[in-house]
Amino acid sequence: MILQEEREMVVEYGKKMIEKKITVGTFGNISCFNREKNMMAITPSGCDYFKTTPEDIVVLTPDGEKVEGNKKPSSEYDMHRIFYQKRKDVNAVIHTHSVYATTLACMHMPIEPIHYIVAYAGPDVPCIPYVQFGTWELAEAAYNAMGENHNACLLGNHGLLSVGPNLSYTLDVAEQIEFLAQVYYNTKLLGKGVNLTKKDLDVVLGNFVNYRQK
Ligand code: 13P
Ligand code: ZN
Repeated sequence: MILQEEREMVVEYGKKMIEKKITVGTFGNISCFNREKNMMAITPSGCDYFKTTPEDIVVLTPDGEKVEGNKKPSSEYDMHRIFYQKRKDVNAVIHTHSVYATTLACMHMPIEPIHYIVAYAGPDVPCIPYVQFGTWELAEAAYNAMGENHNACLLGNHGLLSVGPNLSYTLDVAEQIEFLAQVYYNTKLLGKGVNLTKKDLDVVLGNFVNYRQK
């Protein structure tokens, strides 16, 4: 089976996504990229994460051609492959329908730098307007909003997209940005929160690279 290790990880991370309650039902999707082999492993469309097996994971080229797999790939495969095509630092993509991020996405409300954890996504979390799900237009709009210096964005009237160097980090981005979305929502209920200054934000963004254990 091609990309066995990646397929097993995609299955494992699908279950984690449900356990962490950052998506609902069969929605959301996960992929990871093997840059050496130039192939990606992506969840099948509309499948229960707890019933999905490594055999169900679909292997595609970054051009979207199927290499192996009997199932239909996620309808959002364009939104995954565009990052593997355009960003050398991205080897995993996770899309979720987490409640608070989706709430803000339905308000077309980008997240300001209200808490230093925003650094998981970049200087802020952009929000794009609604674009039909499962289209190349959605993929392009998300990529254009994120560019090279964001690891997450809100998809208008839809959900959250996160990217990163591997699945573990990318799931953290999705989870932490959901936390940030909830905190931001709460500050909106109370009035106007206090944003980090540009100077503080620059320090956090710089330090974030070294935050974790090696
Ligand atoms: P898939 O089940 O096709 O991956 O789609 C889920 C989704 O969230 C679409 O935006
Ligand atoms: Zn979706």
